[in-house]
Amino acid sequence: IDIREDVLAKDLRPDQVILEGKLGSGQFGEVRKGICLLSRSKSVPVAVKTLKNNDPAGEKEILSEASLMKRLNHQHIVRMIGVCKGESLMLVMELAELGPLKKYLEKNLTMKKWHQVEMMVQICDGMSYLESMDVVHRDLAARNVLLVSEHFAKISDFGMSRMVDNNSEYYRAHGPGRWPLMWYAPECLYFHKFDSKSDVWSFGVTMWEIMSNGTRPYERKKPQQILQFIEQGNRLSKPRDCDDRIYDIMLSCWELKKENRPNFKNLKDKLDHLYNEFYRS
Ligand code: ADP
Repeated sequence: IDIREDVLAKDLRPDQVILEGKLGSGQFGEVRKGICLLSRSKSVPVAVKTLKNNDPAGEKEILSEASLMKRLNHQHIVRMIGVCKGESLMLVMELAELGPLKKYLEKNLTMKKWHQVEMMVQICDGMSYLESMDVVHRDLAARNVLLVSEHFAKISDFGMSRMVDNNSEYYRAHGPGRWPLMWYAPECLYFHKFDSKSDVWSFGVTMWEIMSNGTRPYERKKPQQILQFIEQGNRLSKPRDCDDRIYDIMLSCWELKKENRPNFKNLKDKLDHLYNEFYRS
């Protein structure tokens, strides 16, 4: 089902949202499957982020996540359908039935090369849109890419995302809170500075996860060790059977100086070209 703009980001009445089973757990509560009744004749399957014990901190987080998601409208980004302020606050989103890409990668050990590159192209397309909207995601990883079908990926979890201030050109975080350190560029860890080029670093790590069956990056290394490892010029090693052209793109995402990294638009052109030239079936 294509969720069009006219149904996006509305305030929903509690009787419009029917909750079903649990899909996953979020930081402040569960994510449940459900059905949203948009009108008398139209309903859509949804994923609903719910809040545990009306925690005020959680409420604030969900509202800020919702206000950011409301601005976004792209095929490779999970769309928000609305917020429902019933007994407790709920964030209603379009459903990505197949769940997290990370789990898919772990289960499908014989994924075809073209399929892996197809996923990268789609994620990059969504990220390129975020870049154009001055939004930094700050938690891009295979666990936060959801699958609508085996061949359709959407970026999700905008819990840490922020608008980049036009004047400063980056977002300065208070952190480090519960940060996904293994996906973060050095400038994030040292100076708490985030912009689209730090998302590019995370995209490189996400590409690596795709080529490594969802393996945990930097296995067993501690955060401080990783930083040292990176500064000494080391990087995540080339996954088995990974094409050099793909690995070179990952390496470009992990340039120490962010100026030397490609932006998402450049990356998209490169990946599109690679896909069309070498992988399209
Ligand atoms: P948090 O940021 O609080 O950890 P997430 O947004 O990552 O929460 O959601 C937690 C889990 O819920 C995900 O890993 C996924 O399994 C499930 N989930 C979240 N959103 C959706 C969705 N739109 N469609 C399907 N499953 C979802």
